[in-house]
Amino acid sequence: MKPQTGRSGGQIANAIILPMFAVIIISLLSVFGLMIWSSNVTDNSAEQSERQLLSGALELKLEQMAKQQIGTVVWDKAFYKTAGPFLDQAWLEQNLAIWQLQNHGFTKTALIGRDMEPTFSYSSDNHHDWLNDDVKDQTRSAVAKVRARFINSFVRTGSGLYRFSPNYRINDRSIFETSIISIAGRPYMFSASAIVPETQIITANRRPPVVLVNVRPINKLVLDVFTKISGLRDISVEPAHEEHEHTGSFIALRAPNGKTIGELHWTPTEPGSEMLNRILPIFAILAISILGLTLGVVDFTRQATRRLSKSESNARHAASHDALSGLPNRENFRTLVSTALVDRSPASYGTAVVYIDLDRFKDINDTLGHAAGDEVIRTVAKRVSDVISSSGTVSRISGDEFALLLPEAHDREWIEHILKQVQDSLAKPIKIGTNALHVGMSMGVAVAPHDGTQTGELLRKADIALYEAKSEGRGRWSFFNPSMEDHVRTRDQLSRDLRKTLENDELQIAYQPQCEAVNRRIVAIEALVRWIPINGTPVPPSVFIPIAEETGLINEIGFWVLNRACKDAINWSDVVVSVNVSPNQFKHPRFVERLIDTLQKNDFPPSRLEIEVTESVFLGRDKVNLDTLTRLKELGVKIALDDFGSGYSSLSYLRRFPFDTLKIDRDFTGSIHDGREARDILSIMIQLGHVLGMTIVAEGIENEEQFTFLRGLGCHRMQGYHIARPLDAKALTNYLEDYELQAAMDDTPSLPAPKRQSA
Ligand code: C2E
Ligand code: MG
Ligand code: MG
Repeated sequence: MKPQTGRSGGQIANAIILPMFAVIIISLLSVFGLMIWSSNVTDNSAEQSERQLLSGALELKLEQMAKQQIGTVVWDKAFYKTAGPFLDQAWLEQNLAIWQLQNHGFTKTALIGRDMEPTFSYSSDNHHDWLNDDVKDQTRSAVAKVRARFINSFVRTGSGLYRFSPNYRINDRSIFETSIISIAGRPYMFSASAIVPETQIITANRRPPVVLVNVRPINKLVLDVFTKISGLRDISVEPAHEEHEHTGSFIALRAPNGKTIGELHWTPTEPGSEMLNRILPIFAILAISILGLTLGVVDFTRQATRRLSKSESNARHAASHDALSGLPNRENFRTLVSTALVDRSPASYGTAVVYIDLDRFKDINDTLGHAAGDEVIRTVAKRVSDVISSSGTVSRISGDEFALLLPEAHDREWIEHILKQVQDSLAKPIKIGTNALHVGMSMGVAVAPHDGTQTGELLRKADIALYEAKSEGRGRWSFFNPSMEDHVRTRDQLSRDLRKTLENDELQIAYQPQCEAVNRRIVAIEALVRWIPINGTPVPPSVFIPIAEETGLINEIGFWVLNRACKDAINWSDVVVSVNVSPNQFKHPRFVERLIDTLQKNDFPPSRLEIEVTESVFLGRDKVNLDTLTRLKELGVKIALDDFGSGYSSLSYLRRFPFDTLKIDRDFTGSIHDGREARDILSIMIQLGHVLGMTIVAEGIENEEQFTFLRGLGCHRMQGYHIARPLDAKALTNYLEDYELQAAMDDTPSLPAPKRQSA
């Protein structure tokens, strides 16, 4: 199982980053919008003040025009020239109209008589009849206002005469009117002033005045003046547009009747846009930088979160998986089982939990080293995973213990089928360097809901079933059944109890005799340790010896057995005593010293001692092992290779190490009925022992047929239930006495039936 790269990490990153990114984008857009808006507002208000400036300039110019007129129309003499019954037309034309024209740059002038009709009109382009009906219409109201104001300036005196008493001062515009008018489609500035006396209060006839009218085109000269007054650029006069498709800057020039007769255009300064144009590139650079920076931060944050979530998921994976095999670990397995129990479909047969223990794994670790042990674990993990992949999960729960979870088991046969496949997956030897290791396994099965519905309960029962499988002989499986619970205890409990039993000197020994094949004389006995708890079921060595090995207790047990065997065997003269020595004990640096001590303490001759070692002891560490064996041999102790054929069966050990005895494993003895091939192999093994000068002992002789057959093949000694079951010391003493008696009576003693047998 690979660690999962956390999707949650990406989601966290998105949850933080996306809103942050959105806020930055929105902020930038808002600032941009604000800039555009404020530029528009600035432009509009600038345009507004520019419009006022231009309107003011126009006003000013019109007023200036009127004031230029005032210089001549407010004149006593001119007034008197109009005061009589007849106007002094020629004088008025020359001194008012023409004079004005010449001195103030007007292009058209006219005098409007008391009857509202022009008495004189003049144009610098000689079109003197410019005061046509259209112009009259446009000017009429201005002229009328001037006349009305003039008339209203008369105050009736007590004598019944009128006194001209205007309420204007000389600079007041009340005697003049100005406006824009259109002549031949072009806009003109227009001013009309009444000819009034300079003297403020005179008595005069109350009659309408003569009005001087001046007209001036809005030409370049005037526009230049506008430019100077307003400071605006590119002021121009444009014809009036009915509908403005452009919203440029202009003010409408309107005739007194309200009709638009032209437009004054100018190029607005647009300070807002100008400012915007200057700021925009800076803003763009700033925005791009901020966005770039944000993207950088976003990317960094994303990667950081991804790294974080990856290392988090790695850490989670590491916490829940075994580093060596990559499989889920014990805690994870518990969780998987709990989940499977919750999710279990009620319709299915059950959820199976299988504990697996590798047989003799410790031997591999101790002899070939931890690297080899690791390789075995990896290979087993891989092979079992391959087999189980579709039906369940494999976990490694401790050193050489694996566990299977089969969440939806179909039925018991189906589970057994899977277990068979798992076992077969290890049929092929595991190659470690030049060694081909055969690794077997024992399995214990508990199935929910039959054996329990709680995780802890199920695991405990699978463990119990595993012990049962191991105690019945390795390489098999057991399904939990309630009767197991009564006598099978967990490993921890066993190891605690075993230590206590040893401390209390409550272990026992059973002795199993070996006889000569030719004359059936008892020549040796094997000491086999027994643990029979008080008021309890005996715990077989195949169960507690591995635990003792694991806990290191085996050293003490081994020497306890040796010591007791020496004591007991003092009475059984001439018989060789065989004592089993496990790899851990054998490899202990002080093994030989302690052995010598024990022999000396008991005054037991080394020549009567045989130690039995299995070939796993000799995997690796050749030199040290050979030294130990040589020292033992020098002492006179005999050495037997136990269980030959059951383990690695490497013939090279036989050649390299100086064994005295070769013990053929009882599985081989049992195999003589299996066929020719098995018998041939047995024969070759025995011949090999002969060649190497060893004493051959056949273990597990259960009947006469096996006895005869193996004697025929050349086995020197026989051991097995057919000769005698393991017996306690007292029973063996009796057995040997019976045997001696029998021997004395008979030349070729047959084996006596033991009176008492151990469990
Ligand atoms: P082992 O050394 O191969 O001992 C022979 C085993 O075969 C004994 O089992 C014995 O009871 C059994 N046996 C003998 N004859 C027959 C037979 O005819 N048929 C069958 N089916 N079995 C037979 P046991 O006593 O259960 O011991 C099992 C193993 O435990 C021994 O195998 C030995 O490896 C180990 N062991 C026993 N005692 C000690 C000890 O004191 N120290 C150490 N290190 N290992 C011990
Ligand atoms: Mg043995
Ligand atoms: Mg044996």
